[in-house]
Amino acid sequence: MRYLPVFLDLTAGPVLLLGAGELAHAKLRVLAAAGARIRWYATDDHHDLDALGADAARVELAQGDPLSADLSGVIAVLCAGAGDLGVAMSLRAKSLGLPVNVMDDLDHSTFIFPAIVDRGDVVVAIGTGGTSPVVARRLREKIEALLPARIGDLAGFIGERRKQINAGIAEMPLRRRFWERIVDGPIGALVLAGRNAEAEAALNEIDDPAAYAGANEAGASTGHVTLVGAGPGDPDLLTVKGLRALQDADVVYYDELVTPEILDRIRRDAARVPVGRRVGKPGIGQDAVNKLLIEAAHAGKRAVRLKGGDAYVFGRGGEEVDALRKAGVNYTIVPGITAGLGAAAQFEVPLTFRSKALRITFLTAHKERDAEAVDWSALTDTKMTVVVYMGMTAAPSVRAGLLAAGRSPKTPVGVFARVTRADAQAAVGTLDQLPELVARIDGGPAILIIGDVVAHSAPWRRQNFSQTLAQLLEPA
Ligand code: SAH
Repeated sequence: MRYLPVFLDLTAGPVLLLGAGELAHAKLRVLAAAGARIRWYATDDHHDLDALGADAARVELAQGDPLSADLSGVIAVLCAGAGDLGVAMSLRAKSLGLPVNVMDDLDHSTFIFPAIVDRGDVVVAIGTGGTSPVVARRLREKIEALLPARIGDLAGFIGERRKQINAGIAEMPLRRRFWERIVDGPIGALVLAGRNAEAEAALNEIDDPAAYAGANEAGASTGHVTLVGAGPGDPDLLTVKGLRALQDADVVYYDELVTPEILDRIRRDAARVPVGRRVGKPGIGQDAVNKLLIEAAHAGKRAVRLKGGDAYVFGRGGEEVDALRKAGVNYTIVPGITAGLGAAAQFEVPLTFRSKALRITFLTAHKERDAEAVDWSALTDTKMTVVVYMGMTAAPSVRAGLLAAGRSPKTPVGVFARVTRADAQAAVGTLDQLPELVARIDGGPAILIIGDVVAHSAPWRRQNFSQTLAQLLEPA
């Protein structure tokens, strides 16, 4: 992000506009509609203001040389269709520290105009850093379609009452929750339907705003823990519900598997607490995590426990939920896309296949010890696809176990690392090659998929193609 969107208070002083033609008139319309006072240095003789109607009263037709005019009090300078004079004006504005925009000229601008969705008090500004107005316009259309027509009225409705109601709710988080309930609930719906009088009446019926916001008798709010599966890495694979939980959170406890791109989707003001293993450092331990979650909920917070993949697939979600239930804490579980499914989709491994692959086993072989604990004889069915989590170090034991159980050394296998992330990687081959395939991977996390279905995968097809090609090219 190079340009920070900010909102300019147009009542603070006049905006200086320099230029002529349709470009200048377009800017005039935008500024006038936004309530600005405009000092216009027209660079030709066509300064017809009739089209502005009553807004024309706020336009002052300036005379003289803008390059030597007094600019005190001016809040911004705009040049549209002003040619070289615009460039000279930009240099002057810059030397005075005044924000300046020269239309279609990033080099001489210190700010740029966003595409705007205007709903009264609610304004959405969309910028593309000046790269593509078309992208900005398309986005604007989407947002226009998404926003309720009366969203500005809702903001105004709240704005008029906020001070008075907030005075009756001491705690900041409770205040936020109160207004969220208004926005999301029947009162907000009434305003959006244009039924303000009924909304007003319903609001007046709330005699204890703190209780309405979810405060208990002691005055504290009731907390909640949401276990959110973050998926394997790509933030677009978060569920809508998971994203909403991240946007509503007061605090997020996250694992080492959660990518920075996903952490970016957390509400800006929420606290973020890493609780997983860090490079070279152990995590704080499951009991400590449970304790943190319970304490947060008891303090009335909305806590999110954010985990890689899915919380209930080798994610210790079961233990956390047990602890929460024992402590009487409210909780919700939002599923995520587990790494095995992410790998299957990205690398085109159909985990089941008509009559050829009828079963899937998800197992973990974190340490040699786990691998020894696995009953490999249960995995001899050639119509079963085996997905191994945490199987990088124990790969030799996984191979030994499956071979001893009678699986063919020629069984196709794949090692899929950092799936759905920008640096995802795959190595495919046969079961007898498994440890070599793992060695080809430049770091985890990685998942193993074992079974005939791997022969359908995209990397397998590519590898076969290059082998065939190499054989064809080999001199006879
Ligand atoms: N709850 C997680 C699994 C946690 S166990 C889930 O549902 O995906 C950690 C193991 O998951 C890693 O050792 C690796 O085998 C696998 N894993 C997690 N994220 C992965 C990714 N992006 N790519 C490949 N494997 C991944």
